[in-house]
Amino acid sequence: MQYDVVIGLEVHAELKTESKCFCSCKNEYGSSPNSNCCPVCMGLPGALPVLNRKAVEQTIRAGLALGFEINRTAIFERKNYFYPDLSKAYQISQLEKPICINGHLRVFDKDIPINRIHLEEDAGKLIHQDDVSMIDYNRCGVPLIELVTDALKEPHMETADEAIEFLTKLRQIYIYAGVADCEIEKGQMRADVNISLKPKGSKEFGTKVEMKNIMGFKAIHRAINYEIERQKEILDDGGEIVQETRKWDNDKGESFTLRTKENSEDYRYFPDPDLLAVNISDDEIKQIKDSMPMLPDEMKKKYLEEYGLNEYDTDVILADKEVSDMYRDCLKMYFQPKSVANWFTTEILARIKGGGTIQIGKENLVWIIRAVDEKKIRRNAAKDLLSYIWGTNLNAEQEAKRQGIMADMSSDLVFEVLDKVLLEKAQVVEQYKSEQDPKILNFLVGQVMKETRGKANAQEVMEKLKDKIN
Ligand code: ADP
Ligand code: MG
Ligand code: ZN
Repeated sequence: MQYDVVIGLEVHAELKTESKCFCSCKNEYGSSPNSNCCPVCMGLPGALPVLNRKAVEQTIRAGLALGFEINRTAIFERKNYFYPDLSKAYQISQLEKPICINGHLRVFDKDIPINRIHLEEDAGKLIHQDDVSMIDYNRCGVPLIELVTDALKEPHMETADEAIEFLTKLRQIYIYAGVADCEIEKGQMRADVNISLKPKGSKEFGTKVEMKNIMGFKAIHRAINYEIERQKEILDDGGEIVQETRKWDNDKGESFTLRTKENSEDYRYFPDPDLLAVNISDDEIKQIKDSMPMLPDEMKKKYLEEYGLNEYDTDVILADKEVSDMYRDCLKMYFQPKSVANWFTTEILARIKGGGTIQIGKENLVWIIRAVDEKKIRRNAAKDLLSYIWGTNLNAEQEAKRQGIMADMSSDLVFEVLDKVLLEKAQVVEQYKSEQDPKILNFLVGQVMKETRGKANAQEVMEKLKDKIN
């Protein structure tokens, strides 16, 4: 049987703010366990939450970047559940009146509708080691936004590739907008995937299965394809899909049941009496809009049209904001978009692949690129120089001079070598005089380059040779 696949995503991202969402503890990754906590974020009885307005601002910024409407009044509600990662036994979240509603994100040729983005607090982190479990409350109360796509509206995502493209673009937008860092390994961006199948062309939706605990985009891709196949097999055998939450085990490459059927009613949401409604003015929205940095789509247009880059180079450079920012910084000093792009898409990217950072200053990099363009240094020597000063405080120009790798035609040395070669290869020179064969001239240039160990500029050597011979 043929099926239509329906995919819905719930994506969590930790906001970039100085302090937590409802207390003044630091919002900081990696501090020693339970060092950024207070009675509020540890959920001690009687402690009162106070809203961090910056978290609201960041949520609005995320919404505006994705074309959402902003609710002028938003409400915080308590989502009640018992689990050790959240000691007050409820999470402050939003249900009926979230901050952002009705957004969308372009994925390949589809405009994927998004229901909402709401602001909530993150829970603590459970660490299981051998037969003990530990809790780190540092993450408790960190501002978190949850985005929920609307799979029941057209068009919806249907493949693992579309879901990954959605997440990739979303991550890029959050990073460029300055809303969140979205470092996957640090758990700063996490996604749950909802999947259902229905007979091809049918209007009625099938029962959905939610998959949680998927770390990383590759694993999400695998998990989606696994779930589609699992549901297909059940349906083909005449079985029924059970509405449930499943946990993906990436090592085994399969998922298993975590819990069946769970609805929002189970959480007994109700407005949090400790927190006032959030009022958002047109003025505030306008201010945030006006301070919005350039987003990836607009940046892409600029790279294609203003800089004349091709689509591939553009995508590669934009994929990493650090690369993209530094690329534009370099252009401010040396406006050769294609030549500079070339160094980023090859040499720089090769050196930061797999999570490294750029370890060369823009002044040094620009010096190297310009020196190659101006034929003051050979490309290969320049690449070696880049490797040599990468991660050090060395200055490119000084180092190039010290190593003697700069071409310098005016130096007596090159003239000496030229004369020497002309003398030694007198016969060849005679042959060139009579035949004027460029191949012979090239041979002579090659001899000079060899003698100078590449320090000379080949083009200029050729000119000088021609002059001398004729
Ligand atoms: P829950 O209350 O179980 O979390 P939601 O209504 O919040 O369910 O939906 C969670 C996600 O699942 C949303 O992205 C939603 O669009 C998606 N979804 C809802 N129904 C289906 C379905 N039949 N198939 C696939 N995804 C669905
Ligand atoms: Mg949900
Ligand atoms: Zn606190």
